[in-house]
Amino acid sequence: EEIATILGVPVVPYTMDEAVMKLTQDTLKNKRNFVVTANAEIIMMAQDDKEYKTLLSETADLILPDGAGTVWAGNYLGYTIPERVAGYDLYLRLLEEAAKKKFPVYFFGGKPGIAEEAAEEGKRRWPGLNVAGCRNGYFSSEEETEIIEGINRSGAAMLFAALGAPKQEKWLAKYREELKPCLLMGIGGSFDVLAG
Ligand code: UDP
Repeated sequence: EEIATILGVPVVPYTMDEAVMKLTQDTLKNKRNFVVTANAEIIMMAQDDKEYKTLLSETADLILPDGAGTVWAGNYLGYTIPERVAGYDLYLRLLEEAAKKKFPVYFFGGKPGIAEEAAEEGKRRWPGLNVAGCRNGYFSSEEETEIIEGINRSGAAMLFAALGAPKQEKWLAKYREELKPCLLMGIGGSFDVLAG
């Protein structure tokens, strides 16, 4: 795949199906993926935040084209970006695969109780979904070690972090080496949406 570099952010122009297939196969092989679905807001944030831009261009393993703005910009620059791969939609597709393939998932973020509500809804939609653990997204720096240990002890293969951008990406990048889940992905307000 030709990488579409949009304002310094390297976007891989996978379709939703391609992204789901790649991430499922990699998880089966225990291959690491720190995934970012980059909408226009994220790409613009990276223009004013050097740390965020470096994280996206050097630390993230896979950046996908989220939103009409990113798809438009990529195509305008001469790349071929077939469709948008929205964070929320990808998250749901990955939960579906997790239920099928028995990948334990961990829901980290949102206000107290929201990750649990999203987990309940996920288990209702995809019977067999194994939610290894949940943790709200409000914490002090002193609690981070305990959060990481909780995630690792849970045996989760996929970690979904809903702390909002750029906080979720910065947190995942910072603790990338310590975190055991194979797939790390920031999903913004997705628990709120799934929880309803
Ligand atoms: N959030 C969190 N911890 C924080 C700040 C935010 O868990 O310190 C959660 C918040 O409860 C919400 C999500 O992060 O569920 C942010 O959602 P938003 O839609 O603002 O993020 P975006 O999708 O725009 O990145």
